[in-house]
Amino acid sequence: MASYDLIVIGTGPGGYVCAIRAAQLGLKTAVVEKNATYGGTCLNVGCIPSKALLHASELYEEAGETFAKMGIKVDKPGMDLPTLHKYRRQNVEANVNGVAFLFKKNKIDTFHGMGRIVAPGQVEVKADDGKMQTLETKNIVIATGSDVARLPGIEIDEKRVVSSTGALELPKVPQRLLVVGAGIIGLELGSVWRRLGAQVTIVEYLDHILPGIDGEVARQFHRMLQKQGIAFKLSSKVTAVDASGKVLKAKVEPAAGGAAETIEADIVLVAIGRVPFTDGLGLEAIGVEKDNRGRVVIDPHFQTNVAGIYAIGDAVAGPMLAHKAEDEGVAAAENIAGKAGHVNYDVIPNVVYTSPEIASVGKTEEELKAAGIAYEVGKFPFTANARARANLATEGFVKILADAKTDRVLGVHIVGPDAETMIAEAAIAMEFGASSEDIARTCHAHPTLSEAMKEAALAVAKRAINF
Ligand SMILES: Cc1cc2nc3c(=O)[nH]c(=O)nc-3n(C[C@H](O)[C@H](O)[C@H](O)COP(=O)(O)OP(=O)(O)OC[C@H]3O[C@@H](n4cnc5c(N)ncnc54)[C@H](O)[C@@H]3O)c2cc1C
Repeated sequence: MASYDLIVIGTGPGGYVCAIRAAQLGLKTAVVEKNATYGGTCLNVGCIPSKALLHASELYEEAGETFAKMGIKVDKPGMDLPTLHKYRRQNVEANVNGVAFLFKKNKIDTFHGMGRIVAPGQVEVKADDGKMQTLETKNIVIATGSDVARLPGIEIDEKRVVSSTGALELPKVPQRLLVVGAGIIGLELGSVWRRLGAQVTIVEYLDHILPGIDGEVARQFHRMLQKQGIAFKLSSKVTAVDASGKVLKAKVEPAAGGAAETIEADIVLVAIGRVPFTDGLGLEAIGVEKDNRGRVVIDPHFQTNVAGIYAIGDAVAGPMLAHKAEDEGVAAAENIAGKAGHVNYDVIPNVVYTSPEIASVGKTEEELKAAGIAYEVGKFPFTANARARANLATEGFVKILADAKTDRVLGVHIVGPDAETMIAEAAIAMEFGASSEDIARTCHAHPTLSEAMKEAALAVAKRAINF
């Protein structure tokens, strides 16, 4: 029987990174993956394919709308959807093959099939052809990720009523797309298909979009999306989708109850979130504890209540983000190897890859108020940033929240161009315990969008130069 120091079940960003770090630290490591390709949700049906579509559809819109304003003359751009999908698939392929290469490079054994923990130290793998084998190991990491959350009474067929997975692969631009849920995935994929020509309506149960994002950012972004042509129905719920006819008929009711209306659509995208996936792992039989939301319970060292069994990523509590899963993977491997692995959950950036983008790290104003922490706000709009003006991308602002007493940066929120890149500066500053004064006194290159970060830091002390 093959025997290992560590077996990682699942090869998403949590699992594959964990396995590589463990191998670097000298642990004899294997991974078990039930899918045909490595990389999990992120590489196959999540971060990577969605960003390919977001990027291409943004360029498509820019070519049609912004180029002419800069004197660039092109014919009205057309969309060749099969080629767009080919480009998306090639992107996925390059990434999943990259993971296979890294497993080989790091001498990590790979097993294809459904993994089940028979007992601490024993993993059974059932291959697609039904063949079983049992592997022995000192440690196990559960990195089985998450699955689409479903709505009772609404059947996802991935053709007309789709999850994010089906929404990445639509063979035709729908005339009318109804999105259920105004969270990150709904807004990103809604934006893609709006830019490609769909009329998009988003139904959200709450009275605001993007739950968890700083309220001012979410409110301003809501207006931007409306200006782009996306229609919203807030405080509303979709309770049924009638798929019997040629056109889908969604029943939409006020969240608080009341008269229902029918919204017709060609495609309905259910994007109400994701749930941890631990089916078939056998956790109940071996007594691994889960919380009331189905997440595996872990201690600060990522270990479950059963010695030698660890868990990371979407399968445990915390934001369902690839980089959070990766960092947990590294930290768990380091702990298993006897080192001091650690994740700072106060500094996990969050990005919404729409246009403009939203990026944030640390506390929101709402969280600081609820915690009774006194804070100062420094805000700087992109309309006052020279580079944003040159790029014809002046929507949005940078907002820095700093402790009123110590000036320590507690949160940074950006809505605007290239927010995804700019947020890294804020994350590093916060990781080093920076004050807003530290950011303000750091020389920023000119003309760059990141000067807006420096100006927002100056604005905390009410001394922005350009606004
Ligand atoms: C459309 C979409 C867009 C997204 N965009 C972003 C983004 O831009 N940025 C970001 O940070 N996050 C994004 N996410 C979220 C991100 O994909 C997840 O947070 C991340 O993939 C979680 O990583 P993980 O390793 O925990 O699990 P997963 O990536 O879900 O991987 C789990 C793996 O475990 C395997 N597995 C499960 N059970 C077993 C078993 N019993 N035996 C063997 N194998 C098993 C699965 O097949 C899968 O390969 C997006 C998600 C979606 C759906």
